[in-house]
Amino acid sequence: PVDMRGLADPDERAAESALRPTTLEEFEGQPRVAEQLGLVLAAARRRGGVPDHVLLSGPPGLGKTTLAMIIAAEMSAPLRISSGPAIQHAGDLAAILSGLVEGEVLFLDEIHRLSRPAEEMLYLAMEDFRVDVVVGKGPGATAIPIEIPRFTLVGATTRAGLLPGPLRDRFGFTGQLDFYAAADLDHIVRRSALLLGVDLDPDAAKEIARRSRGTPRIANRLLRRVRDFAEVRGSGRLTQAVAAAALELYEVDAIGLDRLDRAVLVAICKRFAGGPVGLSTLAISVGEERETVEEVAEPFLVREGFLMRTPRGRVATPAAWRHLGLKVPRDAGG
Ligand code: ADP
Repeated sequence: PVDMRGLADPDERAAESALRPTTLEEFEGQPRVAEQLGLVLAAARRRGGVPDHVLLSGPPGLGKTTLAMIIAAEMSAPLRISSGPAIQHAGDLAAILSGLVEGEVLFLDEIHRLSRPAEEMLYLAMEDFRVDVVVGKGPGATAIPIEIPRFTLVGATTRAGLLPGPLRDRFGFTGQLDFYAAADLDHIVRRSALLLGVDLDPDAAKEIARRSRGTPRIANRLLRRVRDFAEVRGSGRLTQAVAAAALELYEVDAIGLDRLDRAVLVAICKRFAGGPVGLSTLAISVGEERETVEEVAEPFLVREGFLMRTPRGRVATPAAWRHLGLKVPRDAGG
């Protein structure tokens, strides 16, 4: 199956970075976050200082990494990129922190997956710009404090609620990214088509925008798949009909649900009589990781009104039954 979301493919990664906006001005959508962040940066520039630490939360593909890069670019500061899972030991983090230069932006993706010791080291670094390096073992171990340059931590997480309170509290600004409006995605698709030199009809741009799950990364990916289709099966021109046919082929439905989204809804409705069903059971039933179901599929299904998270488990709404072309049971949730 074609991976419409994952980042495993290096070609996809390269294609993605070519389409990244590089200034806040170019960054489409998210007007509140963009304005608030713009102010934080402008104020720091006026003071000639380093901006406060920034936490960005939201589902994958909404622009967290892009914003981290923009922050560095707007501050003319170098950027260092790492992630919670990549930092195995506190020592790895100490090495990163002590190697930073004044004003550097440190982007930590999936910051909620840092180990406890690394997290505690980060508290001190964020607050006092210091790391305590422990030398020796056992009762003789001593902590040697090392000063580190002032830096801006940009943390990214799929949900701010996953972070322990003390870590969350150390960020001076939190931006919550939401799914994009269709009009914003339309702009993003057109801009990408220009950059890629693709001949894109306005109706085709709308069709792609509509089916992008409110997610710029998916919009750009679908654009590339539609381009493949147009080049191989058509004249190269991206019309609405070509876009619709291509997206059908890649199992993206008319409102943007992909195979996993539909698998989740089908499982709840058909196997679990509409729910409630627990997350773990649901994940096993669709053959996916718990995290993928929870962090990737569910936010959009909830936002579109197809799924509810209740204390007893996940429940399909009448809209979900209808979308699958099934008869809505009398006791359906929602
Ligand atoms: P995240 O870090 O939240 O998973 P990224 O920042 O990597 O998401 O964004 C994924 C892709 O989507 C980027 O390559 C970029 O091209 C595109 N993108 C994200 N946000 C925007 C935006 N606001 N305007 C234009 N393109 C965007």
